[in-house]
Amino acid sequence: MPEKFDVIVVGAGPAGASCAYTCAKNGLNVLLIERGEFPGAKNVMGGILYRKQMEEIIPDFWKEAPLERPVVEQRFWFLDKESMVTTSYKGLEWGKEPFNNFTVLRAKFDKWFAQKAVEQGATLINETVVTECLVDEDGKVIGVRTDRPDGDVYADVVVLCDGVNSLLAKKLGFHKEWKPDEVALTVMEVMKLPKKTINERFNVNDDQGVSVEIFGDATQGALGTAFLYTNKDSINIGVGTTLSSMIKKKMKPYKLLEYVKEHPMIQPYIEGAESLEYLAHLIPEGGYKAIPKLVGDGVIVAGDAAQLVNAIHREGSNMAMSSGRMAAETIMKAKELGDFSERVLDSYRTDLYDSFIGKDLKKYKDAAHTFEAYPQYFEQYVPLMNKAMNTMFTVDGTPKWDKQKKIMQSFTAGRGKLGVAKDLYRAWRVVK
Ligand code: FAD
Repeated sequence: MPEKFDVIVVGAGPAGASCAYTCAKNGLNVLLIERGEFPGAKNVMGGILYRKQMEEIIPDFWKEAPLERPVVEQRFWFLDKESMVTTSYKGLEWGKEPFNNFTVLRAKFDKWFAQKAVEQGATLINETVVTECLVDEDGKVIGVRTDRPDGDVYADVVVLCDGVNSLLAKKLGFHKEWKPDEVALTVMEVMKLPKKTINERFNVNDDQGVSVEIFGDATQGALGTAFLYTNKDSINIGVGTTLSSMIKKKMKPYKLLEYVKEHPMIQPYIEGAESLEYLAHLIPEGGYKAIPKLVGDGVIVAGDAAQLVNAIHREGSNMAMSSGRMAAETIMKAKELGDFSERVLDSYRTDLYDSFIGKDLKKYKDAAHTFEAYPQYFEQYVPLMNKAMNTMFTVDGTPKWDKQKKIMQSFTAGRGKLGVAKDLYRAWRVVK
């Protein structure tokens, strides 16, 4: 191992692998350090990986990457106790090149992705924890300390892709402990089910997948979602809410997942499935306002470590990959200049804010906080939607005008017309 690398990337998730791959492909000498037994060993994701941002790093990756199914249908379920209102989009074009997104199992995908970086010349070391950044007397990051004997390694620049907790950026003073409303706690299970059964239950063929996002009773009214994603011969089922909601509602995550699995609208989809894996992980959901300091002298922060998740659209892996790639591109420019100061590396920050990442996070900057502060959206309106559908579509001889009136009254009963109008306006304002 050389004494000094051009770049040290900490963490071989999507952000780290993208950064290491892009740097190595462009001739930089890269060390990728992963604490897991192998990349992906400890990583958790519901499972939707986006084609566009991955393709910008490895064109046509779908021809060789270990993917599960291309998603052809996105369903949304608004759940009550014994009913649900649903909406979906199914497009067969998503099942063909160039595809839209894929279900993946991260243990397989991350391993493959990191290996691609190695093929480009990056050095990968597993089972190694970076305990802190090495900082010189001028405050410049000059390397990392690992838990290996003689474990100090040096580089021109260190890229922190160490995931949501991001202890390393915290130690550098880039952010404080995340607040409970800035992270969501999610638990999930991978459940084995024969391919044929999955196809029948979700109305797809072998080469088509479905993603289902579930709101309302799945989180017992808390801000969050449950999900069902189809792999080749397994299903990912999970549920998560902000930590603050869990604390407020005194919910236990594993109990919530049991509740979801036993819900009469969901249980038939997993009937007979065998549990393969049980996983729990935090998701950074602080959004735009929680993005920490992103660059310093000799250091860049990317992916979950930088709070880059769009919780409204369930996009995190793509932001991780794009931010990793942008970090690499900035480093290449810095290498040309021979200057790894914060001033030069700052172009990463501006690139990020100018990209879909900055723009999308800005668009939804108030959404999560608003939906958490006004719990009626999940607690009251979802059940009301279900009751409205029941009222409208139950054929009981009541004239439809009377039904409509009854539905309107049910919506305004607790909150009044003005209250409902305010709720609608508030929701529109934060997602417009
Ligand atoms: P991570 O994937 O967390 O990778 C960080 C890596 O760093 C890990 O390999 C870890 O072992 C390593 N590491 C950490 N600390 C150290 C250290 N000190 N030393 C060495 N190595 C270290 N996003 C989507 O796009 N689609 C989805 O469907 C989706 N569903 C999700 C469902 C769940 C349950 C969860 C938890 C997240 C989901 N996300 C989803 C978000 C997505 O998983 C993350 O945004 C993405 O994984 C972030 O990538 P990353 O590389 O920044 O971090």
